[in-house]
Amino acid sequence: MSGSMNYKLFIDGAWRSGRSGTDLPLINPATEQEVGRVAVASASDLDDALRSAQRNLMRWSTTPADVRGELLVKAARILKGTAEAAAAALSKEQGKTLAEAKGEYARAIEMLEWNGAHAGKLSAAFLIDDRRVLLPEAIGVVAAFTPWNYPAVLNARKLAAGLAAGCPVILKAAEETPSAGVYIVEALQEAGIPPGVVSLVFGDPPMISEHLLRSPVVRALSFTGSTPVGKQLAKMAAGNLQRCVLELGGHSPVVVFEDADVAKAVSAISAYKFECAGQSCNAPSRILVARPIYEHFLAKLVQAAEEIKVGRPDDPETDMGPMANARRIAAMARLTGDAVDRGAKVETGGQRIDRPGYYWAPTILSNVHPESQVLREEPFGPILTVAPFTTIDEAIEKANATEYGLASYFFTESPELQKRMISSLSAGAISINHLKGVSADAPNAGVKQSGYGYEGGVEGLRAFQNLKLVNATKALAVG
Ligand code: NAD
Repeated sequence: MSGSMNYKLFIDGAWRSGRSGTDLPLINPATEQEVGRVAVASASDLDDALRSAQRNLMRWSTTPADVRGELLVKAARILKGTAEAAAAALSKEQGKTLAEAKGEYARAIEMLEWNGAHAGKLSAAFLIDDRRVLLPEAIGVVAAFTPWNYPAVLNARKLAAGLAAGCPVILKAAEETPSAGVYIVEALQEAGIPPGVVSLVFGDPPMISEHLLRSPVVRALSFTGSTPVGKQLAKMAAGNLQRCVLELGGHSPVVVFEDADVAKAVSAISAYKFECAGQSCNAPSRILVARPIYEHFLAKLVQAAEEIKVGRPDDPETDMGPMANARRIAAMARLTGDAVDRGAKVETGGQRIDRPGYYWAPTILSNVHPESQVLREEPFGPILTVAPFTTIDEAIEKANATEYGLASYFFTESPELQKRMISSLSAGAISINHLKGVSADAPNAGVKQSGYGYEGGVEGLRAFQNLKLVNATKALAVG
């Protein structure tokens, strides 16, 4: 299956074309050429996936949690063996560099390993006192929806947490990046996942989400994507009171204080911002710099952006590949145009690069009016805005000024400032003097319009469990 770039659905333990009889083109964003096809699920394919998930719920949820965990660890080992080929396919259909794609698979493998290693412990009963116990139980069938920016990590994270908790998972992966779902499901299949416990579907996203969420078989929803789509899905999930994990948009500030190590801050911001061509929900997008160092910092940041080598993702010299699709290029043009119309200065970049492929130049905008679209909606691309601040209160106010609250970053060595910033920033995650945050062993979640529910770590696995309270009159013998 993997290798050909013609991707099928996986339902009830078998790979198949969709009953719709149609498929979708797979486009290489570096060339704008078709490189494969993706099967489209019909309503009857989805019904098969729902039926087989329901049929296998009891079997999987009562499989000893240690055994479920071992299977995930085995799948991680298998994926290590195919990761090289999987990364090449991901790079070709997503546009990220080969090095980025390999790094992403290393993180995907960690997701499988961590959840595998913790499945047993997190499924064990725990005593409140000698006559009351909490029994973790699988919540039921999970419907998971993943986007095209980090498909290997996000597929692995949702599948691993749901499966470790004892839930069958129906995964609708992004049609633009199908290979990651296929490689990971193949690893699970080879590791011995029973038929029906995992389904992988592609097709028309609104049709699929509506069909799955209208089914009472589905007990939980996990979605990563934009805030508007997350809200639509949450509304649908309310119909059956399905539990939601929603990891939505971000618009992350970086506050650089006067005592910061400018070279270190510039290098960290530039490295993370231009990874995956800026299409990361946690990517920094608004840089706020203490006025005394503003001009110096801006010059260094512009220099760093201009040193980013933009080019073909399969060229080892490339730092940044194309954007994933034509929609993002249109969005970059709209956001830049609107900012410039309102008085912004393009310090560098600001335009599409004149070559085949969806390439947008690393862009830095200064003097951006607060009403500009680029400060209000998630840029999700290689655009950074930079502004000075004078007081700490002003920095905090500007940092918290969007409706999002996913990640926030700041650079200072001062313990007092660090304390104040930690308590003042509205964000699910804060990183100090660096920009990395997401890992398999820690929960990740947004606040405000960035979503709710946790992914990763103990909380990410617990998201797919019910805790059944058993309350007796005498001491219990449950272990
Ligand atoms: P989009 O909002 O249409 O789609 C985002 C993702 O959600 C895609 O994978 C898509 O297939 C899926 N989706 C869309 N409608 C759906 C539905 N009704 N049911 C189920 N899934 C659905 O936008 P897009 O053009 O693909 O991406 C652009 C925007 O999406 C970005 O501006 C960014 O805000 C957001 N996004 C966020 C993340 C993230 O990691 N949080 C990832 C990708 C995209």
